[in-house]
This record gives sequence, structure tokens and C-alpha cells, in this order.
Amino acid sequence: MAETSKIQKTEEEWRHELTPEQYAILRQKGTEPAFSGALYQNHADGAYHCAACGAELFKSDAKFESGSGWPSFFLPADKSAIETHDDLSYGMRRVEVTCARCGGHLGHLFPDGPKPTGQRYCINSASLKFENKDKK
Ligand code: FE
Repeated sequence: MAETSKIQKTEEEWRHELTPEQYAILRQKGTEPAFSGALYQNHADGAYHCAACGAELFKSDAKFESGSGWPSFFLPADKSAIETHDDLSYGMRRVEVTCARCGGHLGHLFPDGPKPTGQRYCINSASLKFENKDKK
């Protein structure tokens, strides 16, 4: 089960806790440049947690090579771990993905992923913290 207790912090607290890049993406809905993120090419076995609140969001067995330049997953770790919202910014109709626990912006969801779900969760590396399975 995903953590369901919500985390509420002021923007000042978030700004203090996160790096400037993490803050710009998680709290201000920014996007890191394609092919720039630390986890885009990560193939290790483990879990991807929210960089802001630590909630588990994705597992490595649902990560795939999308060619987009951002870490891509076809399934969240638990469907209650993330929330989706209509995003009409920049003249596009997209679906925004946020962390259900802290509300942090993660990326977007597109309906062009691989089987079995056909979904592509296109997520910023800066929004994620990878935890290797072999490490405690
Ligand atoms: Fe979070």
C-alpha cells in the first residue's frame, strides 16, 4: 500500500528542503531538459521515490526505454501513489502527474506506452530519488 497521509508544507519550507532544480520542477511544474536527468539511463533494480516526500512512486520493473529523454514507466508502484490532473498549459492538452502524498509535480502521462498498460508516465529525474534494491 502506498502512503496515503498527505504532507502539507509551506512554499518556504519546500524551498529550504529542495535543491533549486527540484523546487523548480516539483513545486513550480518545471521540466528538466530532455536527456539531462540522472535517472534517464538508470537500469538498476529498485524503487523510485518522490524526491520531496519519499513516497514510493514507481518500480524499476515498470521502467522502459521511451526514447523521450525522460525516465518513463508504464505503471505506477501503486495507483494511489500518484494523482492525475488535466493540464492545458502551453497550448497543449496534457495530463499532469503529481505525487498523491505531497502534491509535487512529477511529469505527464501519455497514452502511447507499451503493453500491458499502454500508458507512458514521463517523469522528471529531479522529481525522483532512486533506491537500489540491494541497499537498505
Ligand atoms: Fe511526494
